Amino acid sequence: MLGSDLQGGVSRRAGLYVHVPFCSSVCPYCDFAVTQAGESRRAQWERGLLDEAAMYADRGFEFDTVYFGGGTPSALKADRLARVVEGLQQGLWIDPGARFFIEVNPEDVGHDSVRAWRDCGFSSVSVGVQSLDDESLRFLGRRHTEEEARRSIEVLLGAGFDTVSLDLIFGLPGQTCSDWEGQLVEAVRLGVNHVSCYQLTFHDGTIFGKHRDAGLMMEMGEAPQADLYAMTHEILGAAGFEGYEVSNFALPGHRSAHNLKYWTGTPYLGLGPGAHSFDGVDTRWWNNRKVRLWQRDLDNGSPPVEGEESLTKRQRAFETLMLGMRTADGVDLAELERRFGTEVIGPNVDILHSLEAQGLIRRGEDLIAPTPQGMAVADALVRAIRIEEVVE
Ligand code: SF4
Repeated sequence: MLGSDLQGGVSRRAGLYVHVPFCSSVCPYCDFAVTQAGESRRAQWERGLLDEAAMYADRGFEFDTVYFGGGTPSALKADRLARVVEGLQQGLWIDPGARFFIEVNPEDVGHDSVRAWRDCGFSSVSVGVQSLDDESLRFLGRRHTEEEARRSIEVLLGAGFDTVSLDLIFGLPGQTCSDWEGQLVEAVRLGVNHVSCYQLTFHDGTIFGKHRDAGLMMEMGEAPQADLYAMTHEILGAAGFEGYEVSNFALPGHRSAHNLKYWTGTPYLGLGPGAHSFDGVDTRWWNNRKVRLWQRDLDNGSPPVEGEESLTKRQRAFETLMLGMRTADGVDLAELERRFGTEVIGPNVDILHSLEAQGLIRRGEDLIAPTPQGMAVADALVRAIRIEEVVE
């Protein structure tokens, strides 16, 4: 089964995600689908990706955002990247005005590479800086220095990208509020217009996860993490950044048009190992995570889909609530009821009142949305709200 057709076969706006699974080395905290494979595997990936795209050519997707993530898209040679972009434009229905996003690592940023990315049509760039402090970068196993990170931002800002975003990780063991404050202040000073801040997590199976299991490392406790998160809203908010999603902060006009699709139930197609897709109605599917298995399926002429799931109305209502409560825009409850036949306010009068009194949500007519304090505990907020069974 190759994913789902779009509703009624009619074309609908969608986002296209391309997973580039290659990295020069694997960071000790990373649990993404990545490999250090060299040029011959990259050539196979290029062919496989375009074969996979061809399988979706007549599925009714009309893409207005295209996002190259990874892995490290900037680790691809410029000519390979250009061929992939061109192949996708020829093989899929990509709007001429579509916005192209690319994730890059600081060590790959130079005047030539930046020119090549601009020539490919990328207008937004997200830089995997992770920290603006050499000691933290060494701890995170990153290959760049804080000086290279700063220089990469300067080069990108000078190259005319619409949006330059910087990724930071907080909650490193022993990190203090003043360390983190310094990072945020420096991010603002550098002049980027978007910042993503992720909490360091020790995932099972990663080197950090194994160190935790062996008692060699401890994740930061919840209370200090909450303090760092509150500080993030405070400092970036004071600099004019809106915390529009749990991990994402933007100056006006710089919200990520692609990532918003994931949070608002818009269709998206993911190509490449481990990529996920959603038809915007009730079906999602995902690819084999292992590059070898993804490639093997394509070599056999089969879609590299590992699994597919049909969501019930109750699941869709819950998911809409869960994703919406991670965003500053929140959830339109009248719309939720209209789409899924589920009423939220009636069965949750007391809990909504209590969450509002605790300053965790704000309420408007037919709207609930998390406050910055609520975003810090977004998953717990959703678990507290009851979604009634829905007659399918
Ligand atoms: S560069 Fe990014 S994707 Fe690659 S291993 Fe490190 S964290 Fe993972």
